[in-house]
Amino acid sequence: MALRKILTSEDSALHKRCRPVTKFDEKLHTLLDDMGETLTAANGVGLAAPQIGILRRIFVMDTGEEIVELINPEIIETSGEQDGMEGCLSVPGEWWMVKRPNVVKARAQDRYGKWFEIEGEELIARCLCHENDHLDGHIYTEVAYRKLTDEEIEAMTSTSEEA
Ligand code: ZN
Repeated sequence: MALRKILTSEDSALHKRCRPVTKFDEKLHTLLDDMGETLTAANGVGLAAPQIGILRRIFVMDTGEEIVELINPEIIETSGEQDGMEGCLSVPGEWWMVKRPNVVKARAQDRYGKWFEIEGEELIARCLCHENDHLDGHIYTEVAYRKLTDEEIEAMTSTSEEA
């Protein structure tokens, strides 16, 4: 396994629509292992393939219990609303306020190509939306409505959770 370099939002890879995964082979498994390791090392919540320069529809998410791998994901149901701050490993040092659905259900393929469903609320719902947007070339600041000030960031006591 190897750590991959996380690109920042200036990189063109983060503004392109990613293509579906069609081969569930050893190469994909190595990529997923690297993405999981890179996410953990960066202390993030989620990491999408374009953030490391791979234009494929893949992201990994740390639910706090385990790393979930989503390949060719689709959001199939959303409900409610949450309003809170969000960060991104590709936009270091910034935090923005974003409204998201409070509950999100998605379907995706695992590393062997088998379809599964995942449903989450709050942070997981936020992460599913944020990462899915990356696969369409969108950065969360495009849907954010306000940037947190330096004073607000300094006042945060909890550690940062970036996707
Ligand atoms: Zn992000």
